[in-house]
Amino acid sequence: MINREKMDTYLHKGMRIKLIESISKRGITNKNVLEAINRVPRHLYFFDSVFLEKAYEDKAFPIGEGQTISQPYTVAYQTSLLEKVKGEKILEVGTGSGYQASVLSEMGAKVFTIERQKKLYEKTKPMLADLGYSNIKCFYGDGFAGLPTFAPFDKIVVTAAAPFIPEQLLKQLRIGGWLVIPVGENVQSMKRITRASEDKWNEEIFDNFKFVPMLSGKAE
Ligand code: SAH
Repeated sequence: MINREKMDTYLHKGMRIKLIESISKRGITNKNVLEAINRVPRHLYFFDSVFLEKAYEDKAFPIGEGQTISQPYTVAYQTSLLEKVKGEKILEVGTGSGYQASVLSEMGAKVFTIERQKKLYEKTKPMLADLGYSNIKCFYGDGFAGLPTFAPFDKIVVTAAAPFIPEQLLKQLRIGGWLVIPVGENVQSMKRITRASEDKWNEEIFDNFKFVPMLSGKAE
């Protein structure tokens, strides 16, 4: 495990505080979410050192394989929709850089995260272990299928643009559980689906976002 304390300077801490201020100005008020974002060293691993000054801008950024690390505001927004996650079993679809998973881990969730791109999976899995996030389990697979072996989940969060709501994910929620998912082609509306009973789901609709597409099947 790396020495996070040593590699997290006052400069980085200061940049994170500014980031938190800008996110809260945009309307994110959940203290647990803001505190978790304040603890994740986004400049370590998530970014090449050449791009360090970008690490704490409230923007998405390329991470290779045509994918991006999500914008902190978007991560904060989705995490806020999950509300309290401490001790809960959460499935994330779209591991990517591992940033969203790290925020959930900092909040005390048991995180299961699945990525369809093998190279990203292979890069992110050891990195999260190195950062000490022992409550995150990484999987290489197709998020449309979810993780039936580990279901039911208290909550599921999809971090790629879903063309429709995958039925497998609805079925892997416990009754009373939530699915937070951006749905749409060019622009996505953020939806929160609650499993009301064995065969009934209710939908709430929130703001619009732009995500990279959720694609089916695995990629080598
Ligand atoms: N949560 C990430 C965001 C990454 S962008 C972060 O915090 O950085 C979305 C990711 O979803 C990409 O890495 C993409 O490869 C992945 N993805 C797209 N479709 C998927 C699918 N069907 N199953 C699993 N992952 C998928």
